[in-house]
Amino acid sequence: MSDLDATLCIELECWESLGLKRSLRRMDQSSSSHARLDGRELLSLGSNNYLGLADHPAVKRATVQAIERAGLGSGGSRLTTGNFPEHEALEALLADWRGTEDAVLFDSGYAANLGILPALAGPGDLILSDELNHASIIDGCRLTRACVRVYPHSNMDLARPLLSDRASFRRCILVTDGIFSMDGDTAPLQALGELAREHSSWLVVDDAHGTGVMGPEGSGTIQALGVQSLVDVQIGTLSKAVGAAGGFAAGTRSLCRYLRHFARSFVFSTAMPPAIAAGAAQGVQLSREGEHLRRRLRLNSGSIRDLLTRHGFSVPPGEGPIIPVLVGDANAAMSLSEDLLNQRVFVPAIRYPSVPRGSARLRVTATAALEPSDLEWFDQALAKVRRVRTR
Ligand code: PMP
Repeated sequence: MSDLDATLCIELECWESLGLKRSLRRMDQSSSSHARLDGRELLSLGSNNYLGLADHPAVKRATVQAIERAGLGSGGSRLTTGNFPEHEALEALLADWRGTEDAVLFDSGYAANLGILPALAGPGDLILSDELNHASIIDGCRLTRACVRVYPHSNMDLARPLLSDRASFRRCILVTDGIFSMDGDTAPLQALGELAREHSSWLVVDDAHGTGVMGPEGSGTIQALGVQSLVDVQIGTLSKAVGAAGGFAAGTRSLCRYLRHFARSFVFSTAMPPAIAAGAAQGVQLSREGEHLRRRLRLNSGSIRDLLTRHGFSVPPGEGPIIPVLVGDANAAMSLSEDLLNQRVFVPAIRYPSVPRGSARLRVTATAALEPSDLEWFDQALAKVRRVRTR
């Protein structure tokens, strides 16, 4: 065994002995709510495809038509040879959806955060970041080389003192998830926005999980709370409710012009395939028109919460589609997920470093695609898991 292999294997064994082994499951997604694993049909309650649009016929059609027209790869960065009409049409659509002057596309939500934060802040600047912010925000903050201060989750009383020496920094940014990805709760955007204004700071909100789900026409959490005037940069992803892939920033014309100059994941990365942009644009249209889908999503989220509670699992209060079932220990969360898999229900166990140590959980997600028969299936699976566990 080479030195590299030996070193890495020791580290992996250590990691895995803590109950943190990760392995890939080959899921053959047959629809928005069902998947096949090793030839068995599963109910899938772990996807972020909240509105069930990833396999919508119109989304597929728009993507295939664009492939026929433009091929697959874009062949270059947006700033060289990779700028297609599909990209520009999608950016205009996103700006219209969010009610902003302009929008900028990135290859993923992850790439958006990695590009936007270091474009806006650098050494000599201050960033305040919620302790439960998504890894892509954390990594984006690291790349800035700014002074990053992490405040306890959504706690404005403890965030405020971290700004007492604001004057000794050049710029200051407050950054937060809109809807927290692993807990499903909503950030206190009004309070954060006011705090930012009081301290001549900018508020950046990554609304990956609110996009398509919250607010009028699914325009997002910022719009749902009516705090557009307090938010300087709206980040979103096309990979969840919109059913496609890609990330974006929405804001003023100047912000977007600036990002096209200085966001390195925009400048130095090949543009997303134009067909993905075309499929995403269709997903955005369907999201906007999808009040009936959001109604079903809310009903399904409520039914899943009720089922879990009825079977003795505790879930935090809320109405959204991200429903964490807190377990604590990583091995125990894995074992609960396996028990459900034995009943042909897939719910991922989420462990450190996706969530803090000691707060492993099942992350159940609802989608609009779930049928009453799927909820019955889940009900029976929970009953069997409970019976096995109390035996
Ligand atoms: N931001 C948040 C809050 C997220 O939850 C995620 C994905 N889980 C991302 C960004 C990354 O988005 P993408 O999957 O499009 O890269």
